[in-house]
Amino acid sequence: MNFVLLGAPGAGKGTQAKKMVREYGIAHISTGDILRAAVADKTPLGAKAKTYMDAGDLVPDQLVIDLVKERLDKPDAKKGFILDGFPRTTAQAVALDTELSELGLEIDGALSINVPNEQIVARLSSRRLCQECGYIGSEADLTCPKCGGKMYQRDDDQPEAIHNRLEVYDKQTAPLIDYYKGKNLLYDVDGNRPVDQVLNDIKEIVSELQA
Ligand code: AMP
Repeated sequence: MNFVLLGAPGAGKGTQAKKMVREYGIAHISTGDILRAAVADKTPLGAKAKTYMDAGDLVPDQLVIDLVKERLDKPDAKKGFILDGFPRTTAQAVALDTELSELGLEIDGALSINVPNEQIVARLSSRRLCQECGYIGSEADLTCPKCGGKMYQRDDDQPEAIHNRLEVYDKQTAPLIDYYKGKNLLYDVDGNRPVDQVLNDIKEIVSELQA
């Protein structure tokens, strides 16, 4: 099965994607993770993306479209995938549809994880990630509860970048909710609850889609 995860930054897309990977054995394609790795490795892609990312702006469409195309071509994506953080603009959604139809694939569902704005700001400000295993926790986690690794704060989880990311989300990404609603693929998920309750809702949606 192939899914798109929609939702504001901090809605819990990455956390739920990791759990879905464990549950369904499908590939996790996070454009944010791929871009952060490119920045850390100082690749040409990372050099192009860094300024946009630090400011909380979107990286130009063509850069992310090309990297997603390349990723979808890898063998593990054939078992199914979860796109996390892509598409983020209508141009990306249209390019994704074109690419998938060329590959003879389609999206089975777009899961929109909804969390009120005040909650989002609080989550992003306190979000911390494990340098070693990518665990997503909060400032209460002094070390990673999964592997003991060092926790760090993303540069774009600073107040100014958070504000910009939320504006960018409202203007450029929120319209995708109607895009997928129009294709009868949209499933709303209440993300303002404990992680495992959100996952249970997702599992119910997936079961319905599999039935
Ligand atoms: P994320 O980890 O999904 O919050 O993404 C972190 C940052 O990477 C975003 O604020 C953007 O700068 C960039 N990024 C990730 N995915 C995309 C995308 N689909 N389109 C454009 N920029 C993206």
